[in-house]
Amino acid sequence: MVQPIQTVAVIGGGPAGSTLAERLLRGCCTKPDGSARSRRTDPRPLKAIVFEEKRGWEKPCGGGLTAKALKRYPFLADAMAPGNAVGEMEVVVDHDESLRFRLREPITVYSRRDLNALLLRRAERAGAQIVQDRITRLGPAGGHWRLQGLHGAYDADFVAIAAGARTRLRGQFAGDLPARDFMLTYGYYVPQQESLLRVMCFRDFDGYAWSFPRTRRLSVGICGKAVERTMPQLKRMLHCFMRRFSYSRDGAEVFAHLLPSLSIESWRGLKLAGHGWALAGDAAGLVDPITGEGIYFAMRSGELLAESLLEQAGAPDVRPLTPAGYTEKVRAEIADDLMVAARARRYFYRSTFMGEATSARMLQLAGRSRAFMILLQDMIEGQETYSGLVRRISLALPKAAWEVAARTVGGHVFNDNRAA
Ligand SMILES: Cc1cc2nc3c(=O)[nH]c(=O)nc-3n(C[C@H](O)[C@H](O)[C@H](O)COP(=O)(O)OP(=O)(O)OC[C@H]3O[C@@H](n4cnc5c(N)ncnc54)[C@H](O)[C@@H]3O)c2cc1C
Repeated sequence: MVQPIQTVAVIGGGPAGSTLAERLLRGCCTKPDGSARSRRTDPRPLKAIVFEEKRGWEKPCGGGLTAKALKRYPFLADAMAPGNAVGEMEVVVDHDESLRFRLREPITVYSRRDLNALLLRRAERAGAQIVQDRITRLGPAGGHWRLQGLHGAYDADFVAIAAGARTRLRGQFAGDLPARDFMLTYGYYVPQQESLLRVMCFRDFDGYAWSFPRTRRLSVGICGKAVERTMPQLKRMLHCFMRRFSYSRDGAEVFAHLLPSLSIESWRGLKLAGHGWALAGDAAGLVDPITGEGIYFAMRSGELLAESLLEQAGAPDVRPLTPAGYTEKVRAEIADDLMVAARARRYFYRSTFMGEATSARMLQLAGRSRAFMILLQDMIEGQETYSGLVRRISLALPKAAWEVAARTVGGHVFNDNRAA
């Protein structure tokens, strides 16, 4: 029996939406090493329409992608021209601790205009229709969805909300995320060049300031919990950071945006899909609560959603389409571990460890212990899960204490490059 074509409306053409549309139409997903996982059956005839209101915009973002992302999505490295591979990093804690080291695998920093254009082009090449419109509301209408845009009305059998952190469209499906689940961000695109990636933590502050070098300018910004700091407070902290490292605001372009940072309760209650709908990327809250990394999770959630929809292939034409198993897949691969990060966040940013702020103590240990240095690199490069990191920290502590003691007695200074 010939099955009717079903239309998947993807709202948002960022990393989550573009990857979802592309994988859905290509009918395949990736393994961690970047090789393709072949599809099991012929896909149900699907059409994908991506609605994107601001095609070709510079989404406020550091634009940093770790080796984990580049391994799974090798085409990102192939298209590296607009990116910037950064091999050296400095982590600073307030005024007393700092550590500069080489990353074993570079972090690639993209302009988001270039990255989004690349991902959307791939979706288009796979057969997705791209419609430049802002969807303002949607609702059920006679067995399908009716989407209202600024420039027209559209019908679809399935809606994927991949419209980023600020969207209100998720509300009718899974409720709006509360204020405690967001970080405020503020920053500047500074017309300066530097090859160093710099991050600064502050005592008693859930967040950090950063400078990410791109090919022609720097993304310099700060993020902090929305319920703990106001925007003027964040600005003051950022300006201190900028003065300290001579980042000039002259001629710099300002940006501000929201960054999801879910609480443990919200990770526990995560609701990602139902009959005829699903959430992906920032709209679902899938961002690392410690580092703020979200591009990889957006792409991966788009892919997992495509995989779940494709798994219905060959089944009788059941309406509405339901991405069976999607929430479970996201939990197993992403959310359960990011919940560990949400738990660890307060310890990392706020508490003390061996009489010193945890972030400062970790830097000291990394500067003096090879085991801790590798641990820090694994965390920054995204090479290890948070559950793995917590386990390794507890195992590495006695060894680190021994190494620190041995170096103190021997009077040596640890050369961090030996860990690379
Ligand atoms: C300041 C800042 C720095 C960051 N730095 C990093 C970093 O260095 N590395 C990292 O991995 N992550 C970083 N992130 C997080 C990262 O930017 C996001 O996790 C990622 O962009 C999420 O992708 P997405 O596709 O879910 O959403 P988005 O990238 O936000 O894409 C959503 C798209 O939907 C469109 N849209 C929204 N509403 C509608 C509508 N109603 N109709 C049609 N279109 C709509 C928007 O125009 C947008 O293009 C940072 C975030 C911020 C705020």
